[in-house]
Amino acid sequence: MPVKKIVVCMLLLVLCLCAGCGEQSDVKKSDIVLDTAVTLTARGEDAQAAIDESMARLRNIDNMVNPNVPASDVNKLAQNAGTGKWVALQPETFKMLVVAQDYARKTNGAFDVTTKPLVDLWGIGTDHAKVPTPAELSEAQKKVGWQKLELDEGTQSARLLQKGMGVDLGGVAKGFAVDEVRKIYARYGIKDGLINLGASSMYALGVNQEGTAWRIGLRHPRKEDAQEKMAILPLTNEALSTSGDYERFFEAGGIRYHHIIDPRTGWPAKSGAMSVTIVAADTVEDGGMLTDILTTAVFVLGPEQGARFLRGQDGIEGAVTDGRYQLWTTGDLAKELVDVSPDFHFWQESGEGL
Ligand code: ADP
Ligand code: MG
Repeated sequence: MPVKKIVVCMLLLVLCLCAGCGEQSDVKKSDIVLDTAVTLTARGEDAQAAIDESMARLRNIDNMVNPNVPASDVNKLAQNAGTGKWVALQPETFKMLVVAQDYARKTNGAFDVTTKPLVDLWGIGTDHAKVPTPAELSEAQKKVGWQKLELDEGTQSARLLQKGMGVDLGGVAKGFAVDEVRKIYARYGIKDGLINLGASSMYALGVNQEGTAWRIGLRHPRKEDAQEKMAILPLTNEALSTSGDYERFFEAGGIRYHHIIDPRTGWPAKSGAMSVTIVAADTVEDGGMLTDILTTAVFVLGPEQGARFLRGQDGIEGAVTDGRYQLWTTGDLAKELVDVSPDFHFWQESGEGL
């Protein structure tokens, strides 16, 4: 081989190797936090450090909202319920409560973190789940009501006005946590990654390893296998949450009793919804937390009322499945969803005639 050709070949080889050096691969870590299988993925020079700090932050948030942690904020609130005493809270818990109360007001109590006595009574997802008696239900319902949770901005404190009350942040904390991890990623300069809290709340940053939008599978609500998808949604720089009646439930007498309670009836919500997915644009402040709250709220409100409620929320779009296998969508979601299972047909919420 002539010398010139050899030199060209060597140059090409060096170029190829250098191109390879520049490519960074995803760093991934999984753990159980906030009662959820969390997987954090990040790409960038400081990906490992960002993930390690994020996992520590998730555990720190868990300690504030976990009723099994004796010194958690939610435990302190429950212990002091009805005493008149104000409980000083961590700023994180206080913020969750402020936004939760805002949406309790906006949804007329469909979303209500004081639903805890009912959540505990039904025990869905525990080994003592049961259909309560009417007497038990009405007793628990007396201890529910977002108007009986007071917040004091100046001292970052809260109090519950009645003995036996409690707050359950199961419908807020994962979304809040997603926003917190996102802030950590930003501090470490992470531009691409996936923050995934058990598919229930997530945030997709930038692109995946192939250089395209992250592809998020939306679970088919009536297939036992969690891998069976109803649709795929490409996601980039957006938050997404999903709530479904398949997550935690038990069946008795052919009826499915699930973990999303309608505080107004005391029963698992019978709104006609099977699952709700909400997406928030990058521009929406606290997008992760809002999508988490809204999935539960819309599930309780039901497909029609819920979709109508979503239309009034800037930067937010949603998809709701109902028992007739209709998929109600708002915003541009109908155009963005791909590979929709043949089981579902679309119903674009127009706001007219409903
Ligand atoms: P997931 O944990 O799968 O994300 P959701 O976001 O739908 O589920 O939140 C459901 C949880 O929120 C329940 O397990 C319970 O702890 C709490 N919860 C149930 N009903 C309500 C409600 N109407 N308003 C606020 N929180 C609720
Ligand atoms: Mg949720």
